[in-house]
Amino acid sequence: MPHRPIYLDCHATTPIDPIVLEAMLPYFTTQFGNPASNTHIYGWEAESAIKQARSILAESIGATPEEIVFTSGATEANNLAIKGVAEAYFDRGRHIITVATEHNAVLDPCRYLQSIGFEVTILPVQPDGLIDLAELEQAFRPDTILVSVMTANNEIGVLQPIAQIGAICRSRNVLFHTDAAQAIGKIPIDVDRMSIDLMSLTAHKVYGPKGIGALYVRRRNPRVQLAPQLHGGGHERGMRSGTLYPPQIVGFAKAIELGVSQQIEEYKQTWLLRDRLWTKLSAIDGVFLNGHSTQRLPGNLNVSIADVDGSALLLGLQPVVALSSGSACTSAKTEPSHVLRSIGRSNELAYASLRFGIGRFNTEDEIDRVAAVVTETITALRQASRSYSGR
Ligand SMILES: *Cc1c(COP(=O)(O)O)cnc(C)c1O
Repeated sequence: MPHRPIYLDCHATTPIDPIVLEAMLPYFTTQFGNPASNTHIYGWEAESAIKQARSILAESIGATPEEIVFTSGATEANNLAIKGVAEAYFDRGRHIITVATEHNAVLDPCRYLQSIGFEVTILPVQPDGLIDLAELEQAFRPDTILVSVMTANNEIGVLQPIAQIGAICRSRNVLFHTDAAQAIGKIPIDVDRMSIDLMSLTAHKVYGPKGIGALYVRRRNPRVQLAPQLHGGGHERGMRSGTLYPPQIVGFAKAIELGVSQQIEEYKQTWLLRDRLWTKLSAIDGVFLNGHSTQRLPGNLNVSIADVDGSALLLGLQPVVALSSGSACTSAKTEPSHVLRSIGRSNELAYASLRFGIGRFNTEDEIDRVAAVVTETITALRQASRSYSGR
């Protein structure tokens, strides 16, 4: 292949780990059975692979296998959690609390529920991207049925205080959902210790395949009721119908297993690379860090740059480094990132932002090359605009 840019967009997706691919391959070929077929060995093989994957996933978050509902990814898991709880509990209340910096896969289902008569409180965040717990406490109402706060932000990497939020919700008997798409396999998660009732997961942010994820649904203390959003053959204990996809599910479990087992070393490795990049970029005038400086994902660096045109900057970097400005999901639109606006960045600084997502396969050499090209490009763009405006 000709020269391909260095991949630093690990919040959008990650490359499949070769070990994950290896585990998936037999389920594309000889072991192609439908796990729901219980009259022959093809079905039994698939069923046993799914069973094992379910146990691995459950164990990695401190859950039981029956609490895992496979979905097509975190978008579907968020939809199932939020709409499923709203529909199951609407006679208890119609008020939901969430946060301004959530992924659209949480905000949009909430907006949809608003359009059919639910009420949603969207908490602001502080300039560091964290919610204010006192503000959360004040947002509860007698009719609040659900709080949804993400574990790790996909743009600025900020880690919300999930265990504290979980404890607050538990003390008020309100269900707590967290979108952990960016967090699983990167930081330790335990659904009991963190009082999590529902949690969305996805494989492709942690070196697994796209198109597979899960919703964790607590079965005791309390037992969460959920209205299914896909009806059909009654798969996943009726909560999500549709034939299970063994290669994806096996790959998902392998990816999470690898992520969790390598978590400590990988955390250090990506943290060091991120710091290396930040040390070099922070030496440039007018480069600002977005989000809390330490309470964040180790591989995330999000910066805003004064006095440059954001799109010219991205265009200049494109041949050397693959990254994004704002989130990939919204980068087709021309509005600035809602996350950067929520932490108080001006439109200009929100447009002129770069999100670096450093992952398992990045090297020091790559980081140094990226730092050099970012520095050169910013300098060149500033010089060009200065000579253009005659300054
Ligand atoms: C990527 C992402 C999603 C969407 O997950 P899919 O599996 O691609 O549907 C949801 N929430 C967050 C925080 C994400 O980073």
